[in-house]
Amino acid sequence: MFLKLPEQGISLGLGDRVGLATPGHIKVAKQYNFFPVFAQQSIRELNFTGRTFQDVKKDVEIAAIKENYEDKSGFDGDHLKTDEEIQVAIDSGITMLTLDCSEYMDVESKIKEKVYKQFYGKTFQVKDLALVYTQEELEKILSIYSGVIERIINIWNNFPKVKNKDVSFEVSIDETNIPTDEKTHFLLSKYLYDEGITIDTLAPRFPGEFQKGIDYIGNIEEFKSSLIKHYKIASYFGYRLSIHSGSDKFAIYPYINQVTQGNYHLKTSGTSYLQALKIVAQKAPDFFLEIWKTCLDKRKEMDKYYHLSCDPFSVPKDLKPLEYLKNPNARQTLHVSYMFVLNPNYDFRNRFFEILTKYESEYHMEVAEHIERHVRELGIPERGR
Ligand SMILES: [Zn+2]
Repeated sequence: MFLKLPEQGISLGLGDRVGLATPGHIKVAKQYNFFPVFAQQSIRELNFTGRTFQDVKKDVEIAAIKENYEDKSGFDGDHLKTDEEIQVAIDSGITMLTLDCSEYMDVESKIKEKVYKQFYGKTFQVKDLALVYTQEELEKILSIYSGVIERIINIWNNFPKVKNKDVSFEVSIDETNIPTDEKTHFLLSKYLYDEGITIDTLAPRFPGEFQKGIDYIGNIEEFKSSLIKHYKIASYFGYRLSIHSGSDKFAIYPYINQVTQGNYHLKTSGTSYLQALKIVAQKAPDFFLEIWKTCLDKRKEMDKYYHLSCDPFSVPKDLKPLEYLKNPNARQTLHVSYMFVLNPNYDFRNRFFEILTKYESEYHMEVAEHIERHVRELGIPERGR
């Protein structure tokens, strides 16, 4: 059932932090024409939820049996940073490896000189983009990214499953504040390509803000023009773009489809957890408000793990439980509340699962409805059309 991602077309990273959301995802995957990645978790998510990659896989397999789903899907070891994490993920049977390079940004590397020589003073033509590298630009790009390039090469050489193309290989450079420009993207890809390294997807940092669980914040025209450039480079080298934190970014969906001509990967992992909170808000409002109070207490701690722009203290105090899920500041905060709600070290977890299992089919409907809205606004056609 778990396969590598397709080289073309649309794939969606769905992800299920709760372990009960996948039947909802399956309902949508059966109806629309995209390649689903039901199993998609980062080490950060696994640590907070006390799960392993094996658990994630198992939960998806159980859901597939329950929903009679025999079609293909992917298994993404998301945002893997260390060699140990990569090995554990590979041993657990991932079919997609998302290499998080953030810790190798601004790091010295041995290849800096070599890359410099390869690009200095040259002009590269990618479709209508003419890319010229001045000394100043090269120094700036390499001071941030030469460590990243070296890291990717090491992973390629040290993990046979990557080199032999047994897993889809995604490079993620999105976890930074500075948007990736076209010269950086091209340089990185060109150098890797010349070294014989092929990737399947790349996640650049796009301009604007991709905050958790809420719509895109920023200049849509700027996003679009950045997307166009990144798409030209990606398709030049033959891989697809990957858009992270893609859930609820309805404002930019039409452009993603249009610019990439239906060739992209988009990750939406955490949003099915918010749908679970919706069930909690409906069925156990007092418990929901307790979760919200804990969010306020833990706001500082959240910052250690996530780039958040929300101010939960600005949220009106007299909201009804369901209204919190519509308030952008509250919604973003709640998106991250899984770090204690699903955490085995807190007593929220048992109560949360008690409610969710009791109303499981309602939960699946909520997940399906929410993801279907994503799929429709992305312009993904129904199957058989
Ligand atoms: Zn990311």
